[in-house]
Amino acid sequence: MRVTIVTIFPELFAPLLSTSLLGRAVEKGFLEVHVVDLRQFAEPPHHVVDDEPYGGGAGMVMQAPPWIRAVRELSGPDTWKILLSPQGQTLSEAKVRELSTRPDCLFLCARYEGVDERVRRTVVDEEISIGDYVVAGGEVPAMVLLEAVSRQLPGVVGRSSSVENDSFRSGILDFPHYTRPRDVEGMAVPDVLLSGNHAAIEHWRQREALRSTLRKRPDLLAQTDLTAAQEALLREIQVEDEPHAKVKS
Ligand code: SAM
Repeated sequence: MRVTIVTIFPELFAPLLSTSLLGRAVEKGFLEVHVVDLRQFAEPPHHVVDDEPYGGGAGMVMQAPPWIRAVRELSGPDTWKILLSPQGQTLSEAKVRELSTRPDCLFLCARYEGVDERVRRTVVDEEISIGDYVVAGGEVPAMVLLEAVSRQLPGVVGRSSSVENDSFRSGILDFPHYTRPRDVEGMAVPDVLLSGNHAAIEHWRQREALRSTLRKRPDLLAQTDLTAAQEALLREIQVEDEPHAKVKS
């Protein structure tokens, strides 16, 4: 997959692209990332990219011409152009998986009050938000999107089962994880995980994934088509958890 990122702060991306999961994805050629300075597309000598808003009042606005020039010059016919914006569709697992099938994407990272409205109308295919809050620029949202999409690319995450069991992938949360030491402040690792019985371990994981979802994100259960086996497990968990719920209240 090829991703072009347009920003006025290209230096922010270097550590991310050379470290850990993304560093390996780039090194192994699963991901090709080009980070481009928007100012290259602004008028010399000052390469200014922002100006005061028509109508006054608000902060500075990013001008349309540098963005339009940059996007047109940097994209091909198949490039999917995404404006990171708090006004976009909120990023989800489904959207991440859909984007991971696109061979070529371009991310527009704005700053200040955002871009002149005519950028969105001319060179943007889709606006994506990382949540209902506002951060200072599109760079951190672009990093979130890039990492999430990269996890879905075949070969990037060593064990494909890690991605398959990730929270949200099948509509519910991941199961709880344990590693050494066996005892942490009197809390032991569940016996079944030490049993070597793979079927029992798998059953426990399915059950605990459902329990985590029920306790932390019950809203997900309402939106997910559970199998008959999962429905049965969920009923058992609800009966088991009922006394605890009463003690808490
Ligand atoms: N005034 C804008 C608004 O309320 O819609 C917010 C501007 S914000 C300070 C500057 C830039 O940061 C945005 O144009 C966008 O590129 C990025 N940004 C901020 N919050 C974001 C979010 N939740 N998701 C994606 N991008 C965001």
